[in-house]
Amino acid sequence: MPGRNLSRDEAQQRASILAVDSYRVRLDVTSAPDPAAATFRSTTTVAFRCSQPGAATFLDLLAPAVRSVTLNGRSIDPATAYDGARVHVDGLAAENVLTVEADCAYSRTGEGLHRFTDPVDGETYLYTHYEPADARRVFATFEQPDLKAPFSFTVTAPAAWDVWSNAVHEDVVEEGAARTWEFAPTKPISTYLTAVVAGPYHVARDHYSRELADGTTLEIPLSAMCRKSLAPSFDADEILGVTKLGLDFFHEEFDYPYPFGKYDQAFVPEYNIGAMENPGCVTFREEFVFRSKVTDAAYEGRANVILHEMAHMWFGDLVTMRWWDDLWLKESFADFMGSYGLIGARTRYSSAWVTFANQRKAWAYRQDQFPTTHPITADIRDLEDAKLNFDGITYAKGAAVLKQLVAYVGSEAFFEGARRYFQRHAFGNTELADLLDVLEETSGRDLKAWAAAWLQTAGVDSLTPQVTTDAEGRITELAVLQDGEVLRPHRIAVGLYDRDADGSLVRTGRIELDVTGNRTVVAEAAGRPRPALVLLNDEDLTYCKIRFDAESLQTLRAGLGDIHDELARALAWSAVWNLTRDSLMPARDYVALVLRFAGQEGNIGVLQSLHTQAKTAVDLYADPNWRAEGGRLLADGALRELREAVPGSDHQLAWARFLAQTAGGAEHLGLVRGLLAGSARIDGLDVDQELRWSLWLALAAAGQAGDEELAGELAADNTASGKRRYTQCLAARPTAEAKAVAWSAVVDSEELPNALVEANIAGFAVPAHRDLTALYAAPYFKLLERVWSERTIEIAMRIVGGFFPHSQTDEQTLAEADAWLDGHPQAAPALRRLVLECRDDLARALRAQACDRA
Ligand SMILES: [Zn+2]
Repeated sequence: MPGRNLSRDEAQQRASILAVDSYRVRLDVTSAPDPAAATFRSTTTVAFRCSQPGAATFLDLLAPAVRSVTLNGRSIDPATAYDGARVHVDGLAAENVLTVEADCAYSRTGEGLHRFTDPVDGETYLYTHYEPADARRVFATFEQPDLKAPFSFTVTAPAAWDVWSNAVHEDVVEEGAARTWEFAPTKPISTYLTAVVAGPYHVARDHYSRELADGTTLEIPLSAMCRKSLAPSFDADEILGVTKLGLDFFHEEFDYPYPFGKYDQAFVPEYNIGAMENPGCVTFREEFVFRSKVTDAAYEGRANVILHEMAHMWFGDLVTMRWWDDLWLKESFADFMGSYGLIGARTRYSSAWVTFANQRKAWAYRQDQFPTTHPITADIRDLEDAKLNFDGITYAKGAAVLKQLVAYVGSEAFFEGARRYFQRHAFGNTELADLLDVLEETSGRDLKAWAAAWLQTAGVDSLTPQVTTDAEGRITELAVLQDGEVLRPHRIAVGLYDRDADGSLVRTGRIELDVTGNRTVVAEAAGRPRPALVLLNDEDLTYCKIRFDAESLQTLRAGLGDIHDELARALAWSAVWNLTRDSLMPARDYVALVLRFAGQEGNIGVLQSLHTQAKTAVDLYADPNWRAEGGRLLADGALRELREAVPGSDHQLAWARFLAQTAGGAEHLGLVRGLLAGSARIDGLDVDQELRWSLWLALAAAGQAGDEELAGELAADNTASGKRRYTQCLAARPTAEAKAVAWSAVVDSEELPNALVEANIAGFAVPAHRDLTALYAAPYFKLLERVWSERTIEIAMRIVGGFFPHSQTDEQTLAEADAWLDGHPQAAPALRRLVLECRDDLARALRAQACDRA
């Protein structure tokens, strides 16, 4: 489609001549409950100035039909002005009023105005999601972040519905079966941040107020919504409680009153991502409304996201990046603030930095070792580039680097810099230099070299201790070796650990220092007794992969689980996982560590990562000849720990889920069936609806779930979530027919909504079914370009990443991937990037298998 992929050059050109004064957007969604109605009426009136009268420009719009275009009272024929993606206008005046009337499409992919019908009660729900550039699916817009303007929305909807947007509604007028909601003008915001939520949502309301320094009182109405049928599971008090703690905390740290009036948080169906920071109207995936028991890691994760989105009200919404190159300016900060805020706001999630070290950083390390990695400040040529950069670098590495910056300049200089940044750039747009300016002012340090090393280069360094000792076992020299393409300045703590009287590994010494270049001597260590374990980057101050000297590694093999400190233990787990991924530790050794020590891991989030990683180690990194035995060992371990776990505990639930993921033999599957039937019981384990589906998935993947049994489970749980789990179970059956149906449902039709695309792919791609799915490697490479051109980018990304033959870990599949890459140098760069990353994962698996074999 011409122009669907807006380039940075085009955006710069447009911003150089235009300034937008206001948008008025009228939407009529009264047709939404009628499934036969494919479109809704959208009318946009945008007032803007042009510094070069007579020039031409365009609005972005992805709509099935444009009814009329009017520029300054002059009617323009849509047949010539609209090309399917852009509304072209010329002969601009110094001041312009442009109105575009269009029929826009209800979305089923989560992009634009998504429509969902609840199977429980038949109710219809709508919400918008735009980032980076899907506002143009709902109204005509200058779709780029630096053309900010106040927006006034008017929405006509069924009379029984409520409607929300970024601002409060000023008026509601009822006319027959419809109500029209007039919303107040917003503050100047970017197009991707506008939002509408509409439907018969269940609402919980609350209020936040705060005395400001000038003696006035800030009042913020709060609300939280979800579908009516989820209301019994909606713990709005917990959500609103975290919200209030966050508002206290960010006001104290940022010293800039929340600028967007009210604060609504909508939990919406079939959402593609975690959440979106629309000012005053945040949207979240509704899986954060927990239907069944979840572990505390899930509550912590949700609280983290609540604070992440709230931090965006300042970092991103009040001050916005000029273009997507500086996406990190909001995402790295928000990701950092999610964890920092959990501690600082005094929520009950005091292990937030453990989770960050163990999970967020694993995402960053993985992404940063792909051949496609990029600096935190990226080179984003167009919207497709932008879409792919919501990645482990922009979020997790960026946040880790900010944590290092806090260690480098101190938290006072860091937050004073943030306060000046908001004051100076409120309602404006910024680039890297704007942030460095304030941080240099407040820290008194030259940050250009720091930024060049940390923000403008790619890749992860490894730090390895080198220890020499004398005859008495005292350290003669401890050095830190740095390895990487870019050697960076690292502020780190070195932890020295020994066994105490109880056998725990505890820290007996801590040395903080700056590491630079390829070898740094830790002078303070000389003369101390050689410890059992030298832990570099203790406290996780910097971003690096840590390695061990031989004696420390031996200590971990014998007693990783004995490390007393939770964060130090999480760092050790993370390090041995990196060793496994880098073919420096055989996969079966990693599995042995998990089997030996996971049972004593107290942190539930860390335990759940260990489960995922151990499964990956067996499925992808182990010698294929050992895979069956490895799988059996995991299932045996899961069963043993499940029986030993404290009844009713989170750990018990995590081990039950892990048993469901690993069950293969008759004994394990028999227990799974018994738990479903109620003939087997584990004391304290509630086999609730979500756990039931996990157990059914185990049986389905083993070919032991009958069609009628699965249909019966769906009948008992005829919900959106039930439908997804049922679909996944069907696709997970080990038959050629099940795989063919799932493949075709995703590839041959555009009927499936995003949630069921995901469910089909997940079921199709069961690693143990690699013999069945091998047939699809060749068709996969053939369909890539068609998928990329025909499907929306969100769906295309899922198909490209999800159907890649990940479990075909053999040289032939690697050669097929290479052949496609060699044969398609002109394919869309974003598509090539995805395939390159999958190909790199495959090559990594082959190296790990060779290590495991040896
Ligand atoms: Zn974010």
